[in-house]
Amino acid sequence: MSDQTWEITGKIQFFDTMTRNDGKNMNKPLAGITVEIHGANVGRLYDSWGKVYTDSEGNFSLKKVKSKSKRHFKVRVRFEDREKMLSINTPLLGGGLTSDWYQVFETNDTTDGPKVNIGTKTFSEHAAGDLGKDDNVKRAHMFYWVKTGMDALKSHGGGIEFTNPINVAYPANVISGQSYANGVTRTAYIHRNATTDHGNVDTVWHEVMHLWNYQHNTGTSNWIQAAMSGKDTHEFQEKAATAFHEGSSEWGKDALMSELFGRKAVLPANRFSLAQNGLNSFETLERNDDGVTHALHLLITQPVWAYKFGTSTEEISSVSTGGHGNFTAAVQGTQPPNMPSRPNVTMFDVLKVFLGGQHPNWPTAWQVGTMDNGLNVFFKRAADILPNFNDTERVMLIEMLTSGQTTEPRDFL
Ligand SMILES: [Zn+2]
Repeated sequence: MSDQTWEITGKIQFFDTMTRNDGKNMNKPLAGITVEIHGANVGRLYDSWGKVYTDSEGNFSLKKVKSKSKRHFKVRVRFEDREKMLSINTPLLGGGLTSDWYQVFETNDTTDGPKVNIGTKTFSEHAAGDLGKDDNVKRAHMFYWVKTGMDALKSHGGGIEFTNPINVAYPANVISGQSYANGVTRTAYIHRNATTDHGNVDTVWHEVMHLWNYQHNTGTSNWIQAAMSGKDTHEFQEKAATAFHEGSSEWGKDALMSELFGRKAVLPANRFSLAQNGLNSFETLERNDDGVTHALHLLITQPVWAYKFGTSTEEISSVSTGGHGNFTAAVQGTQPPNMPSRPNVTMFDVLKVFLGGQHPNWPTAWQVGTMDNGLNVFFKRAADILPNFNDTERVMLIEMLTSGQTTEPRDFL
């Protein structure tokens, strides 16, 4: 029988119920996933016709020259991108990980083509088969979250992209009960057991930010240890480097959620709530996870000159910052006249501060294992590296993070 050019097309998406917490659920394309098409001209004895990848709209297309005989088709997908930079995996019993295939389509009757359009297939709780399985729907969300972030960092350029492949393993039943990121296996293990499920965007991106951090630091002797320490092992006061490592991952997650997924930005904390949380000096603050997170949020707050931070004794606002812990926010007032446009620091700028060779004073990448490498050192580094953040502004921010102070940003104008 003579040949023809077959073309198998379709679109893969998921029903997004987990990215936003405002109830605005919608279908989103699954961009960059792997699709494998199988054909059979004898019964359902399938051969692979090859792998393709979905485009930014979730569409895929495979062309293949084959005989005109009628065929069955089935289409399977896996949550792994073309470059194998991201893979959503399932932990195997007894160790190891597997990147599973999910069947999204199979013909009922044979077709003679040459065009076979399987239509739009949606991972959703209401779908049948593999498309509707709860774990698969969650993994579809996870692929979308991390792929979107990885693509954004890559397109931003300047060295802040992920440099090595990463995995997200879900559901991982972690003995400690804490999700964690392992820099050796480059895997974020997302915990779930009978009573707890960490399969949400905050946990996934927090752990993936740890993986980002491991890929952008050098000369660290104990980063494996840092990688293995779960959140619950963290004390109120830690070494500055440990608190920075933890606090910066939480900050990065928050910043990314507002930069890419429309979540309200976390507000800077007021001095009253810093004091209420026992963060009574800058030295205490930089040795506390939440202190570091809030300091980095302050660094990307624009325009900082319009805010009031108050004092340790008077609660100027009961509005939550929206970030981790129990902190209330600084108050945005009227803007002072002739307010400078700086400091004008974005999340992407802060990530750049981790990189080596950005300034003669800082030849190496951020060294997570150097124990006094905390917030104080990071702010100095940022003031040297970032053109829109200088030493005067650094001193101003540190005063806003010191609960015993009474100055406001406008006092520095
Ligand atoms: Zn962490």
